[in-house]
Amino acid sequence: MGVVNTLDLEQIGALDPTDWQPVQQMGHLMLDEMLEFMQTHSERPAWVKPPAAAVAAFDAPVPMQGADLEDLYEQFKEHILPYALGNAHPRFWSWVNGCGTASGMLVEMLTAAMNTNAFGAEQIAIYVEQQVLAWFKELLGFPFSASGILVSGGSMANLVGLTVARNAMAGFDVKELGMAAAPQELVCYATAQTHYSVRKALELLGMGSKSLRLIPVDANFQMDIAELQNAIHEDRGAGRKPICVVGTAGTVNTGAVDPLDRIADVCTEEELWFHCDGAFGAMPALSPRLKSMTTGMERADSLAFDLHKWLHVTYDVGCTLIRDPLAHHMTFATSGSYLTHMPGGVAAGPFWFSEHGLQLSRQFRALKVWFLMKEYGVEKLAASIEMNVEQAQYLEARVRRESELELLAEVPMNVVCFRYLFDKDADNLNRELLVRLHDSGIAGPSFAFLNGKFGFRVAITNHRSRKSDFDMLVDGVLKFGREIAAENS
Ligand SMILES: *Cc1c(COP(=O)(O)O)cnc(C)c1O
Repeated sequence: MGVVNTLDLEQIGALDPTDWQPVQQMGHLMLDEMLEFMQTHSERPAWVKPPAAAVAAFDAPVPMQGADLEDLYEQFKEHILPYALGNAHPRFWSWVNGCGTASGMLVEMLTAAMNTNAFGAEQIAIYVEQQVLAWFKELLGFPFSASGILVSGGSMANLVGLTVARNAMAGFDVKELGMAAAPQELVCYATAQTHYSVRKALELLGMGSKSLRLIPVDANFQMDIAELQNAIHEDRGAGRKPICVVGTAGTVNTGAVDPLDRIADVCTEEELWFHCDGAFGAMPALSPRLKSMTTGMERADSLAFDLHKWLHVTYDVGCTLIRDPLAHHMTFATSGSYLTHMPGGVAAGPFWFSEHGLQLSRQFRALKVWFLMKEYGVEKLAASIEMNVEQAQYLEARVRRESELELLAEVPMNVVCFRYLFDKDADNLNRELLVRLHDSGIAGPSFAFLNGKFGFRVAITNHRSRKSDFDMLVDGVLKFGREIAAENS
């Protein structure tokens, strides 16, 4: 340190530009080019494998000296921008992804400009988050008295909900004593169609994956309620303590909705916590035409859903709503003297999100949600959801018409599963077909195993898709299917 005097260090250590003009110019260029990029998704392949040169670019030494922003932006355009997952593309339907919006990109900039830490305290971010939570309580049928929090996504939303469920239902002080003090084994119920983040949450919560009972499903992949009741009684008989049933609104594999109303009835009768995972499948509740799909969801004790999937808010953001605000606060509030609230000043504030989730420092995620809701309005967002449901029906009808294709499941919402009918070795040849389809860049469906059969899974949470895109998918599947069938005959 001796060689650098304090004045020099204050020049060297300052990170703001000395001249803002070039940064401003770069900013304008980036803005124009990225808006252009967003308008031209359909002109590019649905997916491009990152080439060796791009991958090699990320095997560089630690940069000890700085570089020009302009150079870095060029590297970004060459090695990064073209090789994203593909979920912004009109023919990408893998897993469940949202595709973002033009204004969503701009709002990310506003959020970054503010760069506020939305953990709590007296600041406007808290009021914005309370506002969007209030809107979703109303839209999804929760009382205004419920509490909630924006989180990174559905996985975290499930973890938050299940943590509150465990602490509220355990019958002993889990926070103080830990799971080792459990007098009885705690058990939860879901189905094999339930998203794996539920299992992961129970593992993290110290309950072990063996605490999760997988209740059989019926032919439509919905939880069998009689089996649920049997399992609860069996566990009680064996001295275990049932605490929670997880019902899914929109399963990942087929978009099935568990009989949520009946799960709620069972939870009332048996005094269990009802957690609902509605990562994408809660969203049809925004549409008066589709609302009945999720009946019973509004009776959940905790509800997890994503905003970056079917509402297309920029990654990442999900939400948990908790009916009992005290149970929510009790679970996550931990005393820390430097986080004590003050009667006034910046350390006051009406609601501390850090006391309602795992994170202390948090991005101001509410801003992008607020913008999206206000910009489009619920009616337009609902229309976009209705459009995808209709497209799923369109694709289903096309698959049913094609004698070379086999539909693998009913289409209750926005997920279509099908495969090519090969004479032999159908699982492997359909796998091969899927890889060819991805490599061709034509379309990006994912896959599912249903009743032991491997098939393509088209999960439609994409506001850019048009019916012609689904025809291109089916045409591609037929082309590669015939090609592979000929090679293997
Ligand atoms: C996507 C999904 C999740 C996980 O949400 P993330 O936002 O990816 O963490 C959980 N449950 C269901 C049903 C999902 O579709």
